[in-house]
Amino acid sequence: MLAGISQRCGWRTGHRDEVAVSLASSGISGQAIGIASLRLKIYDEFSRRMKSTSTLMRPSNWALQLSPDQRGFRHCLVSLMVAGMSIFSGTAQPSNDEVFTVKQFFEEALDHQQSYQWLHHLSESIGGRIAGSPQSLAAVEFVAQVLDTLGTDTVIRQPCTVRYWYRGAQEEARIVNHPVLGSVDLRCLALGGSGSTGLDGLAAEVVEFRSLDELRESGSRIKGKIAFFNRAFDNRQLRTFHAYGGAVDQRVFGPELAAKMGAVACVVRSMTGRIDDWPHTGVCIFGDSVRPIPAVAISTRDADRLSTCLRQAPTRLFLKTHCEDRGVQQSYSVIGEIRGSTFPDEIILVGGHLDSWDVGGGAHDDGAGCVHSMEVLSLLKRMNYKPRRTIRCVLFQNEENGLAGGRAYAKASNAKGEFHLAAIESDAGGFTPQGFGFDGSPDLVAELRKALPRWEELLGPYNIDFSTGGGGADIGPLKSQGGLLFGLRPDSQRYFDYHHTAQDHIAAVHPRELALGSAAMAALVYLLDRHDFR
Ligand SMILES: [Zn+2]
Repeated sequence: MLAGISQRCGWRTGHRDEVAVSLASSGISGQAIGIASLRLKIYDEFSRRMKSTSTLMRPSNWALQLSPDQRGFRHCLVSLMVAGMSIFSGTAQPSNDEVFTVKQFFEEALDHQQSYQWLHHLSESIGGRIAGSPQSLAAVEFVAQVLDTLGTDTVIRQPCTVRYWYRGAQEEARIVNHPVLGSVDLRCLALGGSGSTGLDGLAAEVVEFRSLDELRESGSRIKGKIAFFNRAFDNRQLRTFHAYGGAVDQRVFGPELAAKMGAVACVVRSMTGRIDDWPHTGVCIFGDSVRPIPAVAISTRDADRLSTCLRQAPTRLFLKTHCEDRGVQQSYSVIGEIRGSTFPDEIILVGGHLDSWDVGGGAHDDGAGCVHSMEVLSLLKRMNYKPRRTIRCVLFQNEENGLAGGRAYAKASNAKGEFHLAAIESDAGGFTPQGFGFDGSPDLVAELRKALPRWEELLGPYNIDFSTGGGGADIGPLKSQGGLLFGLRPDSQRYFDYHHTAQDHIAAVHPRELALGSAAMAALVYLLDRHDFR
């Protein structure tokens, strides 16, 4: 019945824009007076006036009872009343406690901006921290000590075994003796897993491909040459991660295929939709039976330039890389935990990955996710919230080039017979949060869907919504436990300006945007913790 009311009022459950627009046009600043307190006033007024169902069904009639000088407020009131109805279409109305606790998470995070200070240390003092490097171990110590100071019940360093890939000296890529351009240096970065050219470097003719299939179909043409993958991002995609997903096979699998087909090296267009001069590194995978060839990413502007050269004349490229496989090393993920008071065996995990690429400071990828997760524990502690379930912050090692931390964590958890009711990963940057993606066992997802109208009502003022398809690489192995997986979904438009580049430093992260991500995750943890899943 109440769904019918929502439809009649033209309100789509979960849609927030109408409220925001009405607030703006009413001249009432939600931030100035506090959205939550305004909302509570509306609820009170709404309850008082809810004398007849017919009145409820006609918000315009209800609003007419207000005096003309209340027009601005009326506009706002009607919108919020309609918003309020969608709450009643859910299982229950958000309580005052919930409204104010969520509000406090956001206020506390924005006021203290603790996560930004931690991120500053992680990305600027420690810096790039590829798994196995001395920086990665310094990062382990830093976050373990921070978690310890938060008053968590336990902090452990969970061992995992990683392969340490070392870049070595600055790589070189140069178009040589081109009849139109002459010799031109290209901006490049070796890909993680790349082989070395040796000190002399190598020079060979370049052949361009748009896909792995194109290379497969080229037969022996590539033998002794350099394979160049140059399929651009599909910039029509609204979410840039979809464009990344449509292009990244070239980087991950292209070099190995090129090696198998006799190429002496591989060059890949950088994974960004922007035309600029920044090369983007990232992993490429060589199977055990394939000797790694040199593999580099060149900037998108240089990829376009190389492609133009190839259309004009046969083009040779000089490459020099100094990469080394430094073998197997012991490393660690870091785990901090607040034990649950009522259901300690039901775990709600928040996490990100502690390792980053060696260039830049790994600020967005994924220092942001680490400090988001650490600040969730910090916020719970500062607000003196006693969770019913166990809340665990996990900072995974080696997501970028092996996933050893995520795998070791799931293995240890399964061996102990643990159950993760929910795992929330932040690995999409420190930009303004827009929502969460979710996935999980059908039963729990069905249960979650019942709660979502109320949760969206609570988080709507903060522009947080929920959509299907979530999780993250590190928490993926936990799916077999049958819980829920969530991925924080920040604004993605600028993420691939920085991803895996030397630009991924603290200056690219805004402290307020970062704080909003922590608060959104803390609010979701709180709602999950309070919810009675059957
Ligand atoms: Zn990442």
